This record gives sequence, structure tokens and C-alpha cells, in this order.
Amino acid sequence: MSLEVLPVWTSEPGSMANETAIMRWPRIVQDIVKDVTETCSQLSSQDEKSEGQMICRDLELLHKEITTNERLSLLPQDERLSDVEDWNAQLGEIKGCSWLAAPWLFTECYLYKRVQAIFVLTDTHIWRSYDYFKRQKDSTFARSSAAVEELAARFLNMVKEKDAFTAETNADAQRLLFTEMVEIALWGNATDLSMLGPLSVEDLQSLQGRESIAKSRRNIVDDDLDDVWRFLSRHPRANIDIVLDNAGFEFFTDMLLATYLLEMKIASSIRMHVKDFPWFVSDVIPSDIPSLFSHLKSTEIFPRHRQEIDQLVTRMENQLSSGAIQVQQHPFWTTGHTYHDMSSHAKDLFEDLKGRDLVITKGDLNYRKLTRDGLWPHTTPFENAIGPMGRGSGINIMALRTNKADVVVGIETEEKVAELHKEAPNCAWTRNGRYAVISFNEGRLPN
Ligand SMILES: [Mg+2]
Repeated sequence: MSLEVLPVWTSEPGSMANETAIMRWPRIVQDIVKDVTETCSQLSSQDEKSEGQMICRDLELLHKEITTNERLSLLPQDERLSDVEDWNAQLGEIKGCSWLAAPWLFTECYLYKRVQAIFVLTDTHIWRSYDYFKRQKDSTFARSSAAVEELAARFLNMVKEKDAFTAETNADAQRLLFTEMVEIALWGNATDLSMLGPLSVEDLQSLQGRESIAKSRRNIVDDDLDDVWRFLSRHPRANIDIVLDNAGFEFFTDMLLATYLLEMKIASSIRMHVKDFPWFVSDVIPSDIPSLFSHLKSTEIFPRHRQEIDQLVTRMENQLSSGAIQVQQHPFWTTGHTYHDMSSHAKDLFEDLKGRDLVITKGDLNYRKLTRDGLWPHTTPFENAIGPMGRGSGINIMALRTNKADVVVGIETEEKVAELHKEAPNCAWTRNGRYAVISFNEGRLPN
């Protein structure tokens, strides 16, 4: 069945894919040019400045390639650039495709690889390891201060009541708390910088506050959270992986979820998967981890609720230094492959995930990769759309995702789909980030 469902193309009229390729990609490249120009103005070394100017010229050429709909070109063979053969083999398979007439998912990944190539193939250290999205990530996190302070205070209150929660008589309270913690991490995904333009403080607060999280509950269009809770109740002290999405506020909520799962002994170990290089603007790369803590410790950025934030930071740092939370990298996460290819193209990763009790994937890109970015009927069961990651795969997956693309599966009935189209016309419910899914599949069941 899965082979009959095509992935969405950038040429599809009226699709989010089409809008993204025409509107967002050129803007993302322009924003990198702006960032590099600003950094150049602060450099004293003439060599580094001229290299920065060359980078800007290459980025302008890439911008022109996209806006004039040129063909997708092969990546240069160079040992400084990873996975070139694999990328070029995939480009060979879609030979002749151009930016505005190509599979959306692959081409969007390819855009970030092309940008990486421009930086990696330079001669100066500063540019080779440069995070061209850092300014955007930092400034958005700084504007999330109200929600960070509110959640830190809430978390500490909750932990104070921990003893009551662990009593068996309080099973309902435990389940409600779990629901709340997962929903915080879910709606934390609403702030995705590759999707949104500059956000006002009010926009951010309306996306992030606790009250708005409660209001948004009805917008979870596929909600398997009770199944996940039952599953975790059968697997105490689980080994859990989180395949991260965005840095800043979302990563803060992921750390909060991880700390909660460990402290409540729902999990005994958490591994967080990060990207190897700047990816989809706001995705977590290794340097975003110390950056999260240095931001949280800043009394300028977060002046209020200092006591709570300091306590929380200590707890999070302890979980990292004890190894209860570990950070992992794998090159597969920054390829153009969907997760339907994981067992064949990253067998080591696939086998590794089979050894974990639960894999939580965050965000839109992970969801698109799980479902092969296919234009599935919305009533397709999640376990079917995720193909080789589904039934019998040996991997248990929970996808937490606010909807920001064309693909959404797991809606119970056609009537519900019709209702959603009426409530949020022009597919807004699949695209505007105000609707979400919590989709779970237990792949470790026997066939
Ligand atoms: Mg992202």
C-alpha cells in the first residue's frame, strides 16, 4: 500500500510544499546572508572577512538557483563534506528535478546540506564550524522568558508533591501529571523557526503559556496518550530516546520532560538525539546544549523566578553529568532519507533503537520522515503510514508534532476529517501549527 502513496512535490499547486519552496526557502537563505554580513562586520581578520564575503556570494547564487527554478545539482566530492556519495545517488534517482518541481522532503533536506557545503568547504576555522542560525535561535529563546519562568515554577511545585504522586492510590494524579508534561513538550514544538517569521512577544506567549496548552487540548487530532501511559505503566524505569527537533524553548521543554520522567522513575535513562550541523534553522545541534544552560543562568534574560530556575538548572545538569541523560549524534538524522529507509541505510541506528523501550520523535520533520511525507488519506492508521517503522518493526514510537505540513494521518473517521476541513479551511488544520498529533505505535508486538 505504501508504495502507491506518493510523497508531496514542490510543484503541487496549493500545497504547503509549493508555498514553502517559493516563499520560505529564499527567505531562509537571505537570512543567512544577513547573519554572515553582521558577523563579518565584527571580525578583525581580513582573511576571515573576505571568506565571509565569498560565502555571501555563494549563498546569493544558491538563492538565485531556487528563485529561477534551476535543476538540483550534485554535491562536490570533497572529504570535508560527509555522505556525498549517498546524496548524489539520491539526486541521481530524481535526475532532472528542479527546485520547484521535486519531492519536497528530500529537496528541503538538500537545501540545508547545500548551505552546509558552502561553509564546510572554506579555509578558515571560524566559518567551518559557524552556526549561521545561532542569532535567530538565541533571540527567540530570550523572548520566551515568561513561559520558561512559569514552567520552571510549575515544575518545582509538582516535584514537591512527588511523594504523594508515587503512592499507588494516586494513579489518576500520576496520569494527569504525565499528560501535562507531555503536552508541554508537544506544544513547545509550536515555535519552529524554519516555519515562522519573526514572532512578537505576544505571539510567543500565546503559543507557550500553560493556559493556552489546556485550551489547545481539543486540537490534538490524533491522541494516543492514554495508550502510551498504559504502555509505560507496563514498562517501569523505561529506557527512552527523544529524537529532538528545535533548540531554545522546545529543547527546554524536552529537558523538562526528561527530568520529570527520570525523577518520577518512569524512565531510568534518556538519550537525546541531536543533529550534526545547522538544520531546518532551529534544530538542536551539540552547541545548543551548553547554550541552553548559559541562557537559563542569565539573570538578564530571565530576571524573575531565579530561585526556581536555578534549582531546575541544577537538576537538569545533574541528570546530564550522571549520564542519566545522554546526548547522541548519528549522520542519518541529517540525510535526505525518510525513516522508511532507516533499516536499509542506517542499520546500526535501527538496531540500536530496537533496544530502547520507547522512542519519542519531536516535531514536523521527524513526522514527515516517519510517514515518508506521503499524501496519505488522513484516516490512514499511523502504524501503516510509518511502514517499516510500524507493526513488527521492534521499535515503539510516540510522535509529538504540531501540524505544519501537508501530511497528517491517524484521524479516526472521514466525518472527523470533514469536520476539521470545515473548522479550519484550506487545510489550515494540517499546516498552521495550532493542531497537533500524539501518535503511538507499539512496534515490538509480534505480527
Ligand atoms: Mg525544526
